[in-house]
Amino acid sequence: MAASTSTSHPLTNRINRIQESATMAVAAEAGRLRAQGVDIADFSAGEPHFDTPQHIKDAAIAAINANFTRYTPVSGTVELRQAITARHAADFGSDYRPEETIASTGGKQVLFNAFQVLVDHGDEVILPAPYWVSFNDIIRYCGGTPVVVETDESQGFSLTAAMVEHALTPRTRVILLNSPSNPSGAVMKSEDMHALLQLAARRNLIVISDECYAYLDFTGKRFSLGGAAKEQAERDHLLVVGSLSKTYAMTGWRLGFGMGPKWIVSAMNKLQSQSTSNPTSVVQKAGVAALTGPQDCLGPMVAEYIRLRDRAVEGLRAIPGIQCTQPGGAFYVFPNVSAYLREGVAKTPAELAGRLLREANVALVPGEAFGSQKHVRISYPTSMENIEKGLERMKKFFTALK
Ligand code: PLP
Repeated sequence: MAASTSTSHPLTNRINRIQESATMAVAAEAGRLRAQGVDIADFSAGEPHFDTPQHIKDAAIAAINANFTRYTPVSGTVELRQAITARHAADFGSDYRPEETIASTGGKQVLFNAFQVLVDHGDEVILPAPYWVSFNDIIRYCGGTPVVVETDESQGFSLTAAMVEHALTPRTRVILLNSPSNPSGAVMKSEDMHALLQLAARRNLIVISDECYAYLDFTGKRFSLGGAAKEQAERDHLLVVGSLSKTYAMTGWRLGFGMGPKWIVSAMNKLQSQSTSNPTSVVQKAGVAALTGPQDCLGPMVAEYIRLRDRAVEGLRAIPGIQCTQPGGAFYVFPNVSAYLREGVAKTPAELAGRLLREANVALVPGEAFGSQKHVRISYPTSMENIEKGLERMKKFFTALK
């Protein structure tokens, strides 16, 4: 019998295997303090601080007024899937067709669908750490076992095929990649990503490449494994996951996509047909406007993220004892706070984050959520003023602990 919270109505084993997203839990706690009038420097939620560009909002309003408010095909309209594949082809040199594409309610649903259709009870998934908070729980929800492959901060959190090869077993089904990474901001070398895909093709495994931050690559390159996979054997073993959330400041709209072999995409479509059906119709029209409209909103957003990142890294490095690698992309910094993890201060990043929230009114996410016992994650899309305020508070807090 499953563990339960009520003797009369037990919950399933699978729901008891997972926890609520830690990022959201911190944001909620910060929200509660704010409601009590506390001024919080909030670096918890991973989302752009920009507004959605006007032409995208206009497209949604026009869609409502044109009564584009009915069900659409489960995997999104052909118009949307064509816009997704054309944008991806233009930006990354890929060659997917609409029937190899599914649109879902955020990249998160794409990932959820993908793991549900690819991972059975007892199957193993290679999960490089530090990892995005939801990967671990989504894999465990389907009964899969995450096999964590640690990456090294001193090597820029890089992941190579050799590191993964050691962790493969006959039960391995999926290798999960996420570049640029949430939470470290690390950008994988394209050769390493390609070598991992070749390894997967040789061993008949699937690479799920979460590229939700592909446009937030500050190293100056635009890379998708979907564009690099030219051989049929590579394409057959790759599912690319993308999202409009971060690229176009559209987190609340909930639109993401998956591109890959038809047998995987069709299975995801089947699952989605029995759960949420199509992503919201008017959001699909907004998505078409985002993907086919002017792309000149991206440059200024990226330039601002780089400015904020540089200041955050500089300010954190100025705090005695804190180490901070320079992230190559996404919009997070992942400082190492282990110098402060000791008896009498805080034993874990979670305890330290709790003290930072209560005593310095700085909200950030403890590393445990991402598989690290040494770091905290700071999400920096916010005003420069807020960054300065947060840095000052952290400096004061940590200096008092030294
Ligand atoms: N993948 C990663 C690594 C993320 O950080 C996120 C969101 O934070 C997602 C996927 C899902 O994003 P969304 O569902 O908003 O598309």
